[in-house]
Amino acid sequence: MKLVRFTLGEGARLGIIHENGVIDLTRASDGHLPADMLTFLQQGEAALELARQFEHSTPPDLALSEVKLLAPIANPSKVVAIGLNYMDHCREQKVEPPKAPLIFSKFSTAIIGPGEAIRWDPALTSQVDFEAELAVVMGRTARNVTEAEALDYVAGYTICHDVSARDLQFSDGQWIRGKSLDTFCPLGPYLVTTDEVPDPHALAIRCTVNETVLQNSNTSEMIFRIPYLIAYITRAFTLLPGDVITTGTPDGVGVFRKPKIFLKDGDVVTIEIEGLGQLTNPCQEER
Ligand code: ZN
Repeated sequence: MKLVRFTLGEGARLGIIHENGVIDLTRASDGHLPADMLTFLQQGEAALELARQFEHSTPPDLALSEVKLLAPIANPSKVVAIGLNYMDHCREQKVEPPKAPLIFSKFSTAIIGPGEAIRWDPALTSQVDFEAELAVVMGRTARNVTEAEALDYVAGYTICHDVSARDLQFSDGQWIRGKSLDTFCPLGPYLVTTDEVPDPHALAIRCTVNETVLQNSNTSEMIFRIPYLIAYITRAFTLLPGDVITTGTPDGVGVFRKPKIFLKDGDVVTIEIEGLGQLTNPCQEER
């Protein structure tokens, strides 16, 4: 199932992408399903099952072109991010793969949806970089989960653009400021449920800036795989329904290129992951 949050102009609604249209779950369920994805995920398997019934019994009531898609989840309790998690990304930096996952965070206030502008003040940062990432969205509360059961706690997958202000990231003692500027966490376009993604470690992943493909890899390059990450993380802290884990980026980012490439006003970035669609955001400098 491809779950979406969307708007027709006022307020967010919950929907399913089906046959190139959108089933408005808020309307189809007569208010029995919440309009908010976080509340929907908190309701667990019963809500998912109800949504599945509508997917098979209700024709789409809206064309995709009629709706504005929003970030599939806008208000998770946290976005957990993993650094240096692709073999090819370690090779391009000539660093050894880490012995343990490198964990940082992006604040949820950085989340934006498909089509929304990535904005920054050029007086604050002049090194805005792109990072294509596969993001995991949790479906159940997870604490001390084993690797073997980890994927049972996942609701689905989406695309995360881990936009990074490299000058802030590398001049600070840690990464959170450079990773959490407002608008620096585009998510979407869909939350694709796990049944549609039988192997999250075999997906083509690509980042295109304007017309140029700058990252082109596969999630098979991941060093620490999703079950390991969930087990590792939940030994330390609880993951709640709706929490996002963004799993690291492959090689090709701008800062390690010669010459370096940074995003500039008017650029358009598209991230594509096999089976998860495309996430496109324009860039806008703001003075
Ligand atoms: Zn990243």
